[in-house]
This record gives sequence, C-alpha cells and structure tokens, in this order.
Amino acid sequence: MTRALVTGIGGQDGSYLAERLVADGVEVHALVLAADARPAHCPPDVVLHVGDVADVDATRRLVLDLSPDEVYNLAAISSVAQSWQEPDLVSRVNGMAPVALLESARLLHERGHDVRVVQASSAEIFGEPDRSPQDEGTRVRPLNPYGAAKAYAHLAVGVSRQRGLHASSLVLYNHESPRRPGQFVTRKITSTVAAIAQGRAERLVLGNLDARRDWGWAPDYVDAMVRAARVDTPRDYVIATGESHSVDDFVSAAFGAAGMDDWRHLVHTDPAFVRPADATELVGDSSLARTTLGWSPTVGFTEVVGRMVAADLESD
Ligand code: GDP
Repeated sequence: MTRALVTGIGGQDGSYLAERLVADGVEVHALVLAADARPAHCPPDVVLHVGDVADVDATRRLVLDLSPDEVYNLAAISSVAQSWQEPDLVSRVNGMAPVALLESARLLHERGHDVRVVQASSAEIFGEPDRSPQDEGTRVRPLNPYGAAKAYAHLAVGVSRQRGLHASSLVLYNHESPRRPGQFVTRKITSTVAAIAQGRAERLVLGNLDARRDWGWAPDYVDAMVRAARVDTPRDYVIATGESHSVDDFVSAAFGAAGMDDWRHLVHTDPAFVRPADATELVGDSSLARTTLGWSPTVGFTEVVGRMVAADLESD
C-alpha cells in the first residue's frame, strides 16, 4: 500500500488531495496545526499528526519515522496580501520549511527508499513576467515576499533533484473552488455576489479590477500533483489553464451566474485593497504537463465561477 504524507491538509488543496488519495487507496498521513486538529473536509481515514511544518526537527523525525512513498508539501501561508504584513513568517513557512522537508526526504532516499516529493509552487515566483504565457523556462523574478519565499523553495527542489531525489515543483496558477477562503478575490466576489442576490449585502468593494489571472479548478491542480509524483522522471511543471481573465471579468461572470443583469453600480473600488506591487497579468502555458503527465484542466472559467456562486447561494 502506498503511503503519503501531506502537509497543509487544512487548506483548499490539502482537502481535495486527501480525498483523492484516500479514493486511490493510499494510506494518508497529514501534518496539522493543533489549532485545526480535524480540518473541514478531512476524510476520516486520514491519520493526523499534530505539528508545524516550520518546526524542522519535528518534521524530520516524522518523515524518517513514517518513510512515506509520496510527500506533498502544501503547507504555506497562501495569501500574497498577508505576506506584506508578515514577510518573516512567510519566508519561514513557505521557504525554509520546504527546504528542510526536502532534506528529510533526501535522507530517506539515501537509505534506499523510493520517496517522491511534490512541492506546491506558485505563479507568483514569476512576478511581473517578461513573457506571456509563462512556462518552465520563464525567469524567476518575484515581486512580493510570498513569491520570494516560494521561489526559494522552488529552486531548492531543483537542487535536491540534482542530488538524486525524485522531487517536482508544480508552478500552480490560481485555482479556485467553493473551499477557497474569503481573503482571495474569487471567493470574496462569489460570496458577496450571493449575499447581494439574497439581500444580505449592498455592495462589492474591491481593489484593482484590471489585474488578470489564469483561474482554474482546484481539484484539477491536485490531480496534476498526483501525476507528477507517479511519473518516472521528476521535473518542474507549469499548471495552468492558459486563459487569462480580469478581476472585472470574474465579477461580471459571478453576477451573471446569480442571475443579475444590472450590477455595475454595486461594484466599488477602494485603494485599501490595492497592493503595493501586483502582477498585472499571470497566464501559464502548461504544454509540458499536458504532454508528459497527460494532464489537462477539466473545468473552464465560466463553470468555475458558476460552481462557486451556486455553492455560496446554497450555503446561506
Ligand atoms: P493571488 O493572485 O494569489 O494574489 O490571489 P488573490 O485572489 O488574492 O488576488 C488576485 C488578484 O485580484 C490580484 O491581482 C489582486 O490585486 C486582485 N484584487 C483586486 N481586488 C481584490 C480584493 O479585494 N481582494 C483580493 N484578495 N484581491 C484583489
């Protein structure tokens, strides 16, 4: 039986990954912070280990004791906005902790155990990219503390791979679902639009409406992680839909999904939500993943928005 260790199971991707691995018959172990001892959507079969990925000694002991076949590092502070408030914490959790995890896996590998590591990286490592769409050869040049920490971990995966470890870094573009927390613009939009449609809110206040992102469906991105762990050759992959849309497009699709035509006057902007530095357009070319992993996105932009709005309309 395959044994996997997942960090960050309390997040959107961790929950979908755990469900997927359990469905595949994998024995799933997860590292959880004491605060979220049984995270929402965590399948009952998952074995929980309380600890912080940033506690590198404890994490090393766990990896060496468990001897997992697959390690998925999803633990991260996932908000770019928060990384401006707490850059030191973000660099520890998103940058240094993955390096320690890679080193623990490398020790297992040296003992002859075939362990595979998948690092959840981010399009934010490209910052303001000099080419569009971006692919695996695009220059790494982050713009914010979140991207800088993710870039460090991404490069460390390459270093471990050169030392023989089966390690892959997946440069994930924005991926959404009804489980996306409300601090991300997509869920902020869908939950507020649902509230407006139901008479519980009056306006939607956002930052930069012109920012463009490549928004996919989160379970598809988890599928790419599993495929990357199971192919013979480890590599880095861009995981994206290849389509970019503006925040304004997202707002329009969300009101459309809620059945509202006359909504423009309900949307306001506030400089408080505009970031000090923000990529204006991120869009990924996932050709390598499509050809070598047989991966492709299964849910398009309008459907992603529609599913999120439908879930928010149902939940209240
Ligand atoms: P990110 O791409 O990982 O930072 O994901 P987010 O969902 O937080 O932000 C996506 C884009 O939406 C960024 O360019 C933000 O600047 C932009 N944006 C515009 N208004 C807002 C807002 O009110 N909240 C957030 N989180 N982002 C916003």
